[in-house]
Amino acid sequence: MPTLIEDTIAAISTPLGKSGLGVIRLSGKDSRRIALSLFSSPHNNLQDRVPVLRNLLESSTGDVIDQAVVTYFQAPRSFTREDLVEISCHGNPVVLKAVLGLVLEAGARLASPGEFTLRAFLRGRIDLVQAEAFRDLIEAQTLFQVKVAREQATGSISRRVRPVKENLVQLIALLEAGIDFAEDDVSVLAAGEIGRRLSDIEAGLVPLRASFALGKIVSSGLSIALAGRPNVGKSSVFNALLQEERAIVTEMPGTTRDLVSETTQIQGIPVRLMDTAGIRESTDLVEQLGIDRSVEALADADQVLFIVDGSEPWTVLDTEILVRLGERPYLLVVNKVDLEQNLEKGSVQIGAKTVCRVSAKTGQGIDDLRRALFREYGLLEGHTGLVTNVRHEQLIRETLVALNRSQNSLITEMPHEVILLDLYAALKALNALTGETTVEDILGNIFSTFCIGK
Ligand code: GDP
Repeated sequence: MPTLIEDTIAAISTPLGKSGLGVIRLSGKDSRRIALSLFSSPHNNLQDRVPVLRNLLESSTGDVIDQAVVTYFQAPRSFTREDLVEISCHGNPVVLKAVLGLVLEAGARLASPGEFTLRAFLRGRIDLVQAEAFRDLIEAQTLFQVKVAREQATGSISRRVRPVKENLVQLIALLEAGIDFAEDDVSVLAAGEIGRRLSDIEAGLVPLRASFALGKIVSSGLSIALAGRPNVGKSSVFNALLQEERAIVTEMPGTTRDLVSETTQIQGIPVRLMDTAGIRESTDLVEQLGIDRSVEALADADQVLFIVDGSEPWTVLDTEILVRLGERPYLLVVNKVDLEQNLEKGSVQIGAKTVCRVSAKTGQGIDDLRRALFREYGLLEGHTGLVTNVRHEQLIRETLVALNRSQNSLITEMPHEVILLDLYAALKALNALTGETTVEDILGNIFSTFCIGK
């Protein structure tokens, strides 16, 4: 590990294509020296955080390759906590590769993927959760995803995990001391006190774990299937949600033959909408294939919109679809509210917990429908510290399971050694989350909290 982070690394940090600007980044103790070696001597100076415009010279010929803005960030006030230099050239791959070549020739090593962020982690500037958030930030596809990743990168999760971990380490230290130094008059914690501390620790993690219900759809998106008999307006509602005319709209029932799927974003959440063919028995083979796929889509979707036509009485076909939906939760959408309403004239079967009345034609109620899609995920409430990463959720869940086991051991009056086993398991999971080590934390805490003194 030490040799790995003693090198000075360099890479082209912008995509290789023709653009206005392209950036080469260097990190490591030789960054400044290497950057200076590209300049002609009268300008040999680089001050912390002062961008300068410089000609970059080819070492063999002395020819000017490009004029670039060069910024030096002195350690430790840089992203990697090392000396770091950013060379902002013109965004031509030929220029960038030539400058990178000079930088490597002067002693830098080509960085491997993610190595700048790895250094920030290894130098203790960010923890593992934050490092992953930087990756998510770069890969985000919607502005909402960007904001969530940004919050995580600046420590929204880490800040909430840190006090939990401190309390856990302290509890472990207290229990360990009670066992190891029993004869030295270190008092043993009462069961009630241990239980209270354990509950506090759990309480710090439960909201994080719960936030994953929304966090999961923020990162992976939501699939929504539109079900309903032919001609109720599925394609039209689909289009209204997309705000684009994508699915085919026709006057003839049963013409949406195949499953049409589109990915879009609603309120910053990636959404895959699946317009299903009217689900009914059909003698037309092609239509039947579409119907089969629709049934599958209904089973797989995160959410189902069951669309009925408000201008017509409820029909047997509507009931048939309701039967097909079985136990699946769905959101009932009464479409065509711009027309005279006749739904209640049939044998009405409206039992869904949420009913949205919309007109795909006029757009009435479509915004409410969008909001209703996410209401159960709590999207409308303010969020900080949203957990979006499966690895994080798993480790938080593991921690909680271990804490729960230790609560049970406490209730069944197991020895403290047994409780400790689960507390260590909980700590191990938390440390895997943030990428920290354990032993020093425990020792440090034991010896700073207790004046054993001998
Ligand atoms: P699908 O077969 O369920 O996909 O239904 P379509 O979206 O193809 O719509 C069937 C017919 O209903 C078309 O003529 C649409 O223009 C019409 N339609 C759809 N939504 C509305 C609506 O909200 N109001 C009115 N008046 N007509 C609509």
